[in-house]
Amino acid sequence: MSHAIAVRPAAPAPAHPPRPGVAAGFRVICHEPVCPDCRSLDITAEDVETGDGITETALICRSCGTAWPMACVADWGGPR
Ligand SMILES: [Zn+2]
Repeated sequence: MSHAIAVRPAAPAPAHPPRPGVAAGFRVICHEPVCPDCRSLDITAEDVETGDGITETALICRSCGTAWPMACVADWGGPR
């Protein structure tokens, strides 16, 4: 008896990496998200355009409105 068995990868690779920031229930925290101005912990993340056609995730303080870039989102691929 001979059966031809097609070999398939055990787990298909995801087509796209998870998109940080806007996905519901998805959180990326590299450092404690504290507002540099007022020390508030009420921080939200939002996608903003940098002006070069690139969308970047920024952290925004809900208390005073200060926004700063979430640079650590570029660290995909490293150990968590
Ligand atoms: Zn603030």
